[in-house]
Amino acid sequence: MGCSKCGRQEIIFQEYSGLHLCMQHFWEDVLHKAKKTVRKNHWLVPGERYAVALSGGPASCALLDFMNTLIGKRNDLSLIAVTIPSTDPDSMERARAITEAAGIPWFVIPADNATEKDLQENRCDVLHQSPFHAHSLIERSLSSSAGNLTINALAMGYNLEDHAEWALWNAISSGGIQQSGFQADGLKRARIIRPFMQIPRQELDIYTRLFLNDYYSKAQAEDGNRMESPITAILSQFYRKHPGAPYALVNIGEQVKKFRDQVS
Ligand SMILES: [Zn+2]
Repeated sequence: MGCSKCGRQEIIFQEYSGLHLCMQHFWEDVLHKAKKTVRKNHWLVPGERYAVALSGGPASCALLDFMNTLIGKRNDLSLIAVTIPSTDPDSMERARAITEAAGIPWFVIPADNATEKDLQENRCDVLHQSPFHAHSLIERSLSSSAGNLTINALAMGYNLEDHAEWALWNAISSGGIQQSGFQADGLKRARIIRPFMQIPRQELDIYTRLFLNDYYSKAQAEDGNRMESPITAILSQFYRKHPGAPYALVNIGEQVKKFRDQVS
């Protein structure tokens, strides 16, 4: 079947939109969605310094590429990449190579001890934790280093499914994990931005494989050591039958957030 927009050979069928897309139109679609998310949330502020949380995994490399497209040529904004050292030498090497090729300053920052301990303890207790606990600990570690690196905002490679799960979790739990503006010691935290929160995980993997193939020569699943919570597994099964469901969850989450903001 040909691309719904130009008739060229399709590389992907988006069940949720009903569109068949060729390579060019798939590329445009991903960039369009990410740019729209950034614009809608007013995430680019002149004079600010941005950091990409770069693990070396497919989503984070795609995010670096995207943020570089968005910011790289602007004189009023600057971009760096930050990485918490990983035990996977391939990921570290990819992070190094991709920042070097793009000419983006790269900082490897140590995970703080408290975060590391917390992560290890909570790994055994997945059922009792928000699926975002591990993410939020990594976020905390990165954004608390932001002060030293004078970063205003930290871009994270959260995808649509991550965001849908977060929205669901927040809607059904009383508090959920909130991004507070300040750390315990009163320092302002970097804002967290998530340009890919409307893009499905599978599309980010395809994007990386097609457009960053110097770094990813073969298909790879997102972070091999990614912890899959029971909620994630249930949702993945559900999405296979209902491809539009993650978008619906994200919308419901936004409405719940609006409602809570109004009553609080
Ligand atoms: Zn096309």
